[in-house]
Amino acid sequence: MADFETPELTVYPIIPHIKPGSMKHSSPFVANADHQESIGFPGGLVDNWEEKAVAKLGDIARNNKAFKVFLDSCVKCGACTDKCHYYLGTSDPKNMPVARQDLLRKVYRRYYTFAGKYFPWLVGAEDMTKEVLDDWYSYFHQCSQCRRCSVFCPFGIDTAEISMAAREIMDTIGLGQKYSNEIIGKLHKIGNNLGLPEPALVNTMEGLEEDVKDETGVDVRFPVDVKGADILLVTPSADFFAEPHIDGLIGYAKVFHQAGMSWTLSSYASEAANFSMFIGSPENLKKASMRIRDAALDLGVKRIIVGECGHAWRVAYNFWNTLIGPFDFLDKAYPSPMHIIEVTHDLLQRGALKIDKSGNDHRRITFHDSCNVARASRMGNIPGGQFILPREVIKGVANHYFDMAPETTHENTYCCGGGGGLLTDDLIELRVKGAMPRMNALQRVVEEHDVNFLTAICAICKSQFSKTLPYYNFPMDMIGSVHQLVSDAIVLGAKE
Ligand code: SF4
Ligand code: SF4
Repeated sequence: MADFETPELTVYPIIPHIKPGSMKHSSPFVANADHQESIGFPGGLVDNWEEKAVAKLGDIARNNKAFKVFLDSCVKCGACTDKCHYYLGTSDPKNMPVARQDLLRKVYRRYYTFAGKYFPWLVGAEDMTKEVLDDWYSYFHQCSQCRRCSVFCPFGIDTAEISMAAREIMDTIGLGQKYSNEIIGKLHKIGNNLGLPEPALVNTMEGLEEDVKDETGVDVRFPVDVKGADILLVTPSADFFAEPHIDGLIGYAKVFHQAGMSWTLSSYASEAANFSMFIGSPENLKKASMRIRDAALDLGVKRIIVGECGHAWRVAYNFWNTLIGPFDFLDKAYPSPMHIIEVTHDLLQRGALKIDKSGNDHRRITFHDSCNVARASRMGNIPGGQFILPREVIKGVANHYFDMAPETTHENTYCCGGGGGLLTDDLIELRVKGAMPRMNALQRVVEEHDVNFLTAICAICKSQFSKTLPYYNFPMDMIGSVHQLVSDAIVLGAKE
């Protein structure tokens, strides 16, 4: 365990007294020149970086009207101050959303508003300095871009947008984050975040076929690069071998098998995740997404289905059609894109899968709404579908389900603490402290309902919880996929 104190869990959430500067030391490793240049940014801090940062800030404000409105409209009402899990977990006042925004807003005011240019002291405007840049690097990497604060802001000011812009500005002047930028480079070069080449992917899938055959006696296939398959599945690469994610992948394969759906993975586009969103880079977002369109065309599929990945679903649901569309070559009878939860939900509703819920009777289950699904997407084409469908899938395959407190679920959900490109060990203190509000809510359902299993439909949430649950004295294997539950309840070989 690391050298910091894990926050105590309390019966009811407590708004902490501020501890100024308590997380100033927390900042992620800086990307090296190779990582930067491989995704189109300067290898190190450029000359005249102050001017270039200010110019880039102006560009973003001109081109992104929402961002400009967010910078211009805060009235300092304070409604967001206690809504960020990182403030609640760290007590650092710069982790209050309004204070985080102001790190950037004060520079915007100085250079792009009349009052800031001529009376900076009146409006809290400040020059772009090294001290400001250091604060940006630290505190804009203490925002998981979860958008919880925007739910409570009367103007809907979205700190995630400001955090993305700040990271884009820093990348543009040569100051990037190692974790995200190295991963984006691997995705461009190899096709997935892990750098897993095609032979390794094929081997892994063949191994999974053998494992499932040994366990069930049924030939469930995990196909790769099958031309003419109906469905291209794009899923986070963590699903290929990390625990507990892999049990979710087995669940998807069992669903496809049992429903008689022809599907394939692509070795060229073997990743649903797209960390380019976290660094606010539209060019990289498009380049990474384009692999999926190209793979779909090359394989001649009729549908694209996205696996359990929160931000990937946001990118797919919100951006794909404008970023890499139109998808007029896909079957118009289905939504494009479609989430694996929508697929399984539909099959369950139609009674197309035989389910034995007793396969999950040893579990007392709760569900963590992942931020990007909850506050930045929808499912099933119904209002609130992103909350309804996953819960109906869980209840369709398990007998014991209990929601966490409403102020911590649905659109009010707390981030796992590791989203937005922060799922790296150099930020472990932040991740553990930021997980505290979710752990508090979990503790309550554990005490009240003997809950012993936490599910999520996001690869980052699953990895984050595997790591942070033990800090709060929960077992690390308490977290799993929704499709792990499906996998354990589906009756293979039987048709209704
Ligand atoms: S977007 Fe999330 S992490 Fe960022 S300031 Fe708002 S609540 Fe905090
Ligand atoms: S809730 Fe909105 S308007 Fe109020 S302080 Fe926060 S960001 Fe500003």
